Amino acid sequence: LKNGNGVSIATTQINFEDIGGQSVAKKELQEALDFLRYSDRMKALGIRPLKGILLSGPTGTGKTLLAKAAAKYTDSAFLSVSGSEFVEMYAGVGAERVRGLFRRAREMVRKEKKTSAIIFIDEMDILGAKRGSNVSHHEYDQTLNQLLVEMDGLKAEQGAHILVMAATNRLEALDDALLRPGRFDRQVKVDLPDKEGRVAILKIHTKNKPLAKEVNLEEIAHETFGFSGAHLESVTNEAAIFALREESNEINEHHLHEAVEKVMLGEKLDRKPSI
Ligand code: ATP
Repeated sequence: LKNGNGVSIATTQINFEDIGGQSVAKKELQEALDFLRYSDRMKALGIRPLKGILLSGPTGTGKTLLAKAAAKYTDSAFLSVSGSEFVEMYAGVGAERVRGLFRRAREMVRKEKKTSAIIFIDEMDILGAKRGSNVSHHEYDQTLNQLLVEMDGLKAEQGAHILVMAATNRLEALDDALLRPGRFDRQVKVDLPDKEGRVAILKIHTKNKPLAKEVNLEEIAHETFGFSGAHLESVTNEAAIFALREESNEINEHHLHEAVEKVMLGEKLDRKPSI
């Protein structure tokens, strides 16, 4: 569901088990989220509420999935928006969108009778680039300032807790102010999956597909060094399409090999400079 301002609101059905590999990221994230799950205990100990978690790593590695799983794990309302939605020509519009986003999160908590909401900002580097750098200009700076103001103002209002999760694949581009205590003070790295992770991801995406008995996913994982979760999902989908074209009822080893080639080739073509 997307409203006019590009904010999408959804109940999320993703569990941590639906995310392959990423065991370190999942563990770190769950530990951080326990601050939200056991907020009463945290409050009793005088621990300040967790306001922001930053997920960083290459594209297609499952950052969005992790944010969705976080919302399910903590039974939070979930709002997601891309940093690019805040880029506007007119002064003040981006800042007003930030205010609106937090307002909407508070509303949702009330309406859905939740105790918390997670605001997920994808492509955080667009909104949160170092102020004064050549990627940022005055208008973005105002927007970023507004985000900082909102985060600084977050407190457990009448039991409602708002957590901001942001994702970036350009950690070094982010303004240092974002990483100060009380803002995105938890950082979780989400790297490309290792071989074991790739096997797990391939298993998840072939669960509902008819695989021939001969198929050895370990071997496919071995061949797909450097692939992200998104690439691997694409491999399983392309393999099914190859099977369909051959009018085969199941996905054979050669369909998977061809799909690996295809995805690899697609990547190479994408990287070619356009002439
Ligand atoms: P971006 O930085 O481009 O926004 P992302 O890191 O947020 O990427 P996702 O949007 O979470 O990546 O992943 C895209 C798709 O790739 C998912 O919908 C899923 O199909 C698949 N995928 C990625 N990582 C995993 C994973 N670890 N386990 C299972 N599927 C994955």
